[in-house]
Amino acid sequence: MSDEDTKTTKSGKKEEATRHMREDPRSPVLLPGIRRLQFFANLADRPLTLNLNRAVMFGIAASLAVDVVKPVINGVPQTLYCYECRACYGTQDKCPVGIAFQAELTVASRVADYERFIKAGGLKCIRCGNCASYCVVNLNLPRIYSRMQMMTIDAMKRGAIPRRVIEKAFREGAINRLFINEVAQWLETA
Ligand code: SF4
Ligand code: SF4
Repeated sequence: MSDEDTKTTKSGKKEEATRHMREDPRSPVLLPGIRRLQFFANLADRPLTLNLNRAVMFGIAASLAVDVVKPVINGVPQTLYCYECRACYGTQDKCPVGIAFQAELTVASRVADYERFIKAGGLKCIRCGNCASYCVVNLNLPRIYSRMQMMTIDAMKRGAIPRRVIEKAFREGAINRLFINEVAQWLETA
């Protein structure tokens, strides 16, 4: 038995009472009204906080699983390795269609954010691969963008993208010739 435990035993009732209190007077004060071991550590019986902790940990694990599973299911697992360093912005005028923020396209592909992809010029991309040489983790960017373009066109046909976003991209010439007919047709009929 440690010295600490011995002291506790000697002080009898008083010590037993503090075990179940939210404030432990033995614990050092960190901020006015807050002790270091207050609440979470000094309660012998804390099923509520334990279960809250479990629920929070479960929530974090579930959202992480979704973050990982989604790009894998969508066929763009490489996007998980993008750590958003933005080194690919160095492509600059080497991008023949003038896309300035390739990382936006990569991140939008990872989370399947069609609106963000279109706004960043994703449907303009001609998959030349010039930007890939700037990627510090050597992602196959043209392949990723190609897959996301197909997903975006499918989403457009399902009505999962607001019409105004498609119209704006169409007006501004942000759709390359591979998709222009499909988009024009959709705009006429939708
Ligand atoms: S692959 Fe697309 S984004 Fe990259 S440089 Fe070529 S056109 Fe631009
Ligand atoms: S350089 Fe590669 S890792 Fe960095 S943001 Fe661009 S795509 Fe992601």
